[in-house]
Amino acid sequence: RMAQNGTAQNGPVEGTASVPQPLKVQDIRHTKIFINNEWHTSSTGRTFPTFNPATGVKLCDVEEGDKSFYVDLDGSIKTLRYYAGWSDKVHGKSLPIDESFMCLTKHEPVGVCGAIIPWNFPLLMFSWKIGPALSCGNTVVVKPAEETPLTALHMGSLIAEAGFPPGVVNIIPGFGPTAGAAIANHMDIDKVTFTGSTQVGQLIKEAAAKSNLKRVTLELGGKNPCIVFSDCDLQLAVEETHKGAFYNQGQCCTAASRVFVEESIYEEFVLRSVERAKKVVIGDPLDPLTSHGPQISRRQFLKIMDLIDSGKEEGARLEYGGVAVGGAESLFIQPTIFSNLRDHMRIAKEEIFGPVQCIFSFKSQQEVVERANRSPFGLVSAVFTGSVDRALSMSAALDTGTVWVNCYNALHAQTPFGGFKMSGHGRELGEYALAEYSEVKAVTIKLR
Ligand code: NAD
Repeated sequence: RMAQNGTAQNGPVEGTASVPQPLKVQDIRHTKIFINNEWHTSSTGRTFPTFNPATGVKLCDVEEGDKSFYVDLDGSIKTLRYYAGWSDKVHGKSLPIDESFMCLTKHEPVGVCGAIIPWNFPLLMFSWKIGPALSCGNTVVVKPAEETPLTALHMGSLIAEAGFPPGVVNIIPGFGPTAGAAIANHMDIDKVTFTGSTQVGQLIKEAAAKSNLKRVTLELGGKNPCIVFSDCDLQLAVEETHKGAFYNQGQCCTAASRVFVEESIYEEFVLRSVERAKKVVIGDPLDPLTSHGPQISRRQFLKIMDLIDSGKEEGARLEYGGVAVGGAESLFIQPTIFSNLRDHMRIAKEEIFGPVQCIFSFKSQQEVVERANRSPFGLVSAVFTGSVDRALSMSAALDTGTVWVNCYNALHAQTPFGGFKMSGHGRELGEYALAEYSEVKAVTIKLR
């Protein structure tokens, strides 16, 4: 029962004359989130206090909800819904030529599409591939990463339960050089779509060319630059680049691993980034309070630690982290921040795929554009600025498939995603992905 001013009270019950009694702390039974008639711990890990306005005394802390979700699941649902909407809208045009001819264009399925996917977002990558492929009328053979086969297999059981015709979606767990290579080399597979390392992407393109010249879409690695100008909202830039660098323990092709900060705000930016990294909660990913889990495997763990060691040896300043936590068998790496970097250092050039943020300083826009583009990769970039003119000129100058302005990892089902240079070719998501999964046929008619 709530009083007019919103204060929780014990009484009175409507229609009675009893005198309202103030709520006693021991009367408060629930402070958690209420969903489906159950009390849940908030995934934000935060609480907020609530007070008695008459006395100013704090009554209790209440768990705080927000729009938090697990991205893999939410993004997958949105992607599949988006492409379900396209399935009856993929159609051609009629093209008037002259008085003697007209042309009809038709969009036909490519045929059998092989999808080879990585372990870092096992459900999202599955959805990014099957969504547009099925909208365009293709069948799909998915090979999940050997580290994460269960997600795809669970999707298989849901697909059967949903009543898909047999053979439309097929899932073959296995290893890259055997099951993956078999897809790339297969003479009856018409297209291969691959997300993973640049090195394997090159092998797949070669196999596709040597077999039946199947179509290829490649989503590969990145060494993504974020450029922070002094006219930006500094705290927003700190927060977004933190998320960009450490989200999913840095195991993202979009990881914000190169952050260029204008000289005048450099020291402050580094200071605030370290303060932000200290708030990370390391632990079991199944615990809702955890914000930072383990790396996927010993192989990845060792590769990341080797790059961290190279940064220390090559003279970068370790501002925070740089160590493994949890004992000899552990795969946990503390969020790590380096400053005082030089562009030639290994951590400044190589994709780390781990929780390491490298913060560089720059003096001028021209200089930072040149340094940001000096990479064989061209997946994503970000610009933090208060100036629309600068945002537009930077978005034209940066050689990446995506440029985020005052945000990071802003991926949506509607927006095309894919790389320039050695980050791959072709586009996923949005209307653009449909072109990757259909053949356009021209039917030209002679008019009488
Ligand atoms: P990986 O290239 O080793 O493996 C990815 C997939 O390819 C797995 O399913 C694997 O079994 C398969 N594979 C491996 N060797 C193969 C071969 N010879 N023939 C056919 N298939 C083969 O990559 P990874 O270590 O699993 O993932 C990390 C890499 O993926 C990083 O470089 C990262 O940048 C990249 N990645 C890119 C994107 C993107 O959208 N651009 C997204 C996620 C990951």
